[in-house]
Amino acid sequence: MAEPKPASRGAEPPAAEPPLTYRDLAAIDIAKIKGVGEKRREALREAGIASVLDLLTTYPRRYVDRTNEAHVENLVEGVEAVVLVKVRNVRRVPLRNRRSMVTAMVGDATGSFGLTFFNQPWRERQLKTDQEIAVFGKPERFRGKLQMTNPLVDIVGNRTGRIVPIYPQSEKSNVTTWELTGWVENALERAAPRTISDPLPAAQRERLGFVSRNAALSTIHFPDSIVDKERARERLSFDELLRVQLVLVGRKKAFERDNTGLKHDMSGAMQKAFLQALPFPLTGAQRRVIKEVNADLATPVPMHRLLQGDVGSGKTVVAVAAMLVAVQGGHQGALMAPTEVLAEQHFAGIRSLLDELRVPDDGNLFGERQLRVELLTGRVTGERRREVLADLASGGVDIVIGTHALIQEGVEFSSLGVVVIDEQHRFGVEQRAALRGKGAGEKHTTPDVLVMTATPIPRTAALTHYGDLEVSVLDELPPGRTPIKTIAVDDDEARRDMWVAVREALDAGQQAYVVCPMIAESDKLEVAAAEEIHEQLRSGELRDYKVGLLHGRMSSTEKDEVMSKFRSRTYDVLVSTTVIEVGVDVPNATCMVVLDADRFGIAQLHQLRGRVGRGKIASRCWLERKDKTVGEERINALVESTDGFYLAEVDLELRGEGTLMSTAQKGAGDLKIASFVRDKRLIVQAREAAFAILDTDPTLAKHPELADELSLFLAPEEKEFLFKD
Ligand code: ADP
Ligand code: MG
Repeated sequence: MAEPKPASRGAEPPAAEPPLTYRDLAAIDIAKIKGVGEKRREALREAGIASVLDLLTTYPRRYVDRTNEAHVENLVEGVEAVVLVKVRNVRRVPLRNRRSMVTAMVGDATGSFGLTFFNQPWRERQLKTDQEIAVFGKPERFRGKLQMTNPLVDIVGNRTGRIVPIYPQSEKSNVTTWELTGWVENALERAAPRTISDPLPAAQRERLGFVSRNAALSTIHFPDSIVDKERARERLSFDELLRVQLVLVGRKKAFERDNTGLKHDMSGAMQKAFLQALPFPLTGAQRRVIKEVNADLATPVPMHRLLQGDVGSGKTVVAVAAMLVAVQGGHQGALMAPTEVLAEQHFAGIRSLLDELRVPDDGNLFGERQLRVELLTGRVTGERRREVLADLASGGVDIVIGTHALIQEGVEFSSLGVVVIDEQHRFGVEQRAALRGKGAGEKHTTPDVLVMTATPIPRTAALTHYGDLEVSVLDELPPGRTPIKTIAVDDDEARRDMWVAVREALDAGQQAYVVCPMIAESDKLEVAAAEEIHEQLRSGELRDYKVGLLHGRMSSTEKDEVMSKFRSRTYDVLVSTTVIEVGVDVPNATCMVVLDADRFGIAQLHQLRGRVGRGKIASRCWLERKDKTVGEERINALVESTDGFYLAEVDLELRGEGTLMSTAQKGAGDLKIASFVRDKRLIVQAREAAFAILDTDPTLAKHPELADELSLFLAPEEKEFLFKD
């Protein structure tokens, strides 16, 4: 850790020193803070706080307002409440079996009540007489008196001020809110002479009406009012979101600057011929999106577009239309799918769609030839593989469909023009880049890239995750689909009805999926559960039918065998773990039973449900669970709606940031205070600001402090892309 600059010791006259930047604060070790000795330093480091910057950006998790919180006299039996109280006494009561109980008497000016902690012997040391604590819990009546059992406790210490910050604290590292408050206060006091610098251009700040960073940072810790706190929170959230958007918009601009794409000739007839030959009219959404894609293809800037479309919305047609533009001009198209099963399915489907199409070919006597589509996966081996590779390199193959085998070394294209990546969330940024890199050819042009996903993402979240891509949305399903009926099952009677209905469908010649409970902790247990369910159903509810089993521990040949038996109706029912791939298409399957559905997330259930409803017959999906009270909101949302975008919004609301964040990039995308759910407006504002800044100053040369702060937060792989001249 670098030594702090002399000025931060406060020795020099303050006026001589410029305001402190985040980089300055990041260079000051937490041990410089008064009261942080070696032991506390270690504890803090364990909690991820190593520098003064880390400390100041450890924001309160909530606040206790002394004037508004309940007083002891207002506590009501059975109603959760927060009270600020003083500890009157603490006592440890030994119980049998080496268990223990700690009791404490606490109170304020209006009265007192008891706290009881079971099996938390350390409470005896933690709670000290006369200390002020915030207690959160549900009062119960015990022997006529109110008490709380195992409440949440925050040590407030002896703070004054109306609003008391409560910090996230880990009991393990044993750093209390009270200590943190003191250290933050010390850090702010010592920063005060120099103030904390604001990297946001003044014009932007005024336009958006934000408080300064200096004010925001002290207010967030020690607000005078909740309104002030909220304004501080907005400003600091904006800063985080601006960093994310600068990275994304910067990446987009760098990409556009560094890459020359093909300017495809749009006058050819192949795309039109293909669309006209389809056995169905395009949906309005398909027409709109094909237009958007065509507009990208017509410019020399390489396309980098995300296509979001719910399961069954017809993304494949859009993908093929795009690849044909490349083929028309003598280039090639490539489609990369995440699994072999999906690649093979795409291959079969696309080949039949393109059955009749011919390619202009000057070298041919007839001036044209049959369009050639090939498959390249790990399973294409030997002579066949050599042949495909040779013909890809010579231009004999027009469209190749494959897995990540496409991005391996040794795969050369004669002229890769359009790349389609299906089911984006399974591929990383690097893999996207690797396939793009295959486009070099002689002229070093970058192919146009269309990334497709069936996982709808709310708009603001998409801006944060895929802000370097343009976004198109297929928000309309082809007509004639009979909507899937979804039924929640949570008692024996409903369970009986469910199996009766499944058997009726099977008797009518339809097929069914039974999805086994997801067991996140262990693949092995999941397989065991699936095997057991398979056995039970075969000898029980479904004894008169042919029941297959599919799980993740099978080899891909075994899986294929099972899938093709299901497809050919050798099996009536497929019992499966979640390995039934996204995109697997068996139109005759009209029933889906998801067991222990509460173990799945909304997005996953929605994807699973998309396996049915692919044919003309009305499909049904039963979401079974043992306990009616678990996962109720999720299940209800699915029963209510089949609209993936609506469900994505619900999902985001229910789950909050946590899970979404785990898929976001670390580094500049690390959000400590901003929220996807709450800060939709700020996300849009941050994006606008990022464009405003980078449009006139693409390398941030004129915004050195912003550039420096960004590089402080960027992960190494992010740096590689960005802001180089
Ligand atoms: P996605 O990949 O978006 O889940 P697909 O491209 O696999 O969807 O299309 C699902 C099914 O809908 C396919 O059988 C396809 O042929 C059919 N389809 C696509 N577009 C239309 C349309 N405009 N009208 C009717 N059927 C369509
Ligand atoms: Mg698809």
